[in-house]
Amino acid sequence: MNSPVWHPFTQHGLGERPLEVARAQGAWLHTTDGRRIVDAISSWWVTTHGHCHPRIMAAIIDQAQRLDQVIFAGCTHEPAEQLARGLVGMMPAPLAHVFFSDSGSTSVEVALKMALGFWHNRGEARHRIVVMEGSYHGDTIGGMSVGARGVFNRSYAPLLFDVATIPFPKAGQEQATLDALETLCRAPEPPAAFIVEPLILGAGGMLIYAPAVLAQMRAICAAHDVLFIADEVMTGWGRTGTLLACEQAEIVPDLLCLSKGLTGGSVPLAVTMATAPIFEAHLSQDRARMFFHSSSYTANPIACAAANANMAIWKEEPVLERIAALGQRQSARLASLRGVTNRRQIGTITAMEMEQPKCDYLSELGPKLLRFFLDRDLLLRPLGNSIYVMPPYCIDEADLDKIYEAIQMAADEFSVPA
Ligand SMILES: *Cc1c(COP(=O)(O)O)cnc(C)c1O
Repeated sequence: MNSPVWHPFTQHGLGERPLEVARAQGAWLHTTDGRRIVDAISSWWVTTHGHCHPRIMAAIIDQAQRLDQVIFAGCTHEPAEQLARGLVGMMPAPLAHVFFSDSGSTSVEVALKMALGFWHNRGEARHRIVVMEGSYHGDTIGGMSVGARGVFNRSYAPLLFDVATIPFPKAGQEQATLDALETLCRAPEPPAAFIVEPLILGAGGMLIYAPAVLAQMRAICAAHDVLFIADEVMTGWGRTGTLLACEQAEIVPDLLCLSKGLTGGSVPLAVTMATAPIFEAHLSQDRARMFFHSSSYTANPIACAAANANMAIWKEEPVLERIAALGQRQSARLASLRGVTNRRQIGTITAMEMEQPKCDYLSELGPKLLRFFLDRDLLLRPLGNSIYVMPPYCIDEADLDKIYEAIQMAADEFSVPA
């Protein structure tokens, strides 16, 4: 009852009891009281192939019996070497160097530090970071600094560093975004880097923008030597229909952040991939120019083994076909919903809002919806008034039906009849 656990993004004062999950399989969470819940948000966007995937679990067990953990400064091991080689082979060619960390936030911190180190070691005073309005890049101080400001980081605002913000490229207003980026890049003191979530802002409300805009933003940065950081922590590993969202714009970033689906969502691991010029800016006989970053569990062997199993699944199984089929099946269901607005979809992700939410419910709609869905054995966690669906790729027809039927019931219940 009185647990000492302090949960993330949880107001303990409201007295809501957490779901007690005993085990998970595929798209299902099994609770200690015997319920089977459909994980329609992939456990906060991490689970790609499904929970407890046999190949990933086997790799973890096998690795755990041989090497659990070892310092990664001055030591290396096959799981990390294999993973780095595999990633360099799988990701676009200029991304030739792999730095390990343990979460999406740390992969972003590493990317920001690499960008600043790049300019510092080249003797150019560039330290400003450009960001997109409404972005989310993690909850560490650096991650919050480059992310949207709001109630969730107001207490820390005095400590967050200054960034330059360009508007979100709303349909029809893309030119304003591009002009703002161009102006910032042309400033007498040009920025060090631009960081962006490619094609879709996740925590910002599942807001989608066009690949052409991403391509043009990349071109503007390239023209002004501003480093381009793609935060594919959410979008990577197939979420948007392609392995990377950047592929749809035919671009390659200077720095790429990957985490969530890197291990199939099984254990924590992240990488920041960098191009040769960024690595070489830190390459010297001088120890003062090395990249000063590590964490205790950098490249943990068990996590690397899980990621290698994920890569094997990607190489040997028709993952992209599965994703395409899931996208199509969701698209049909999304189209058939009544009473919702702003329907949008990219790859395996769909999102929408209530057409006419009952006004008195508006401020409290998110938590009400969460409970409504949980009562129907569905884990859906609306972002404000946006409902989104982001299931594991293995989800079956019956569970998809259940999700969209419940969303229809919610739309019927929580919107004002026309
Ligand atoms: C989740 C997320 C992060 C933070 O990752 P954590 O593993 O939670 O630290 C960073 N960027 C994006 C785009 C994310 O979706």
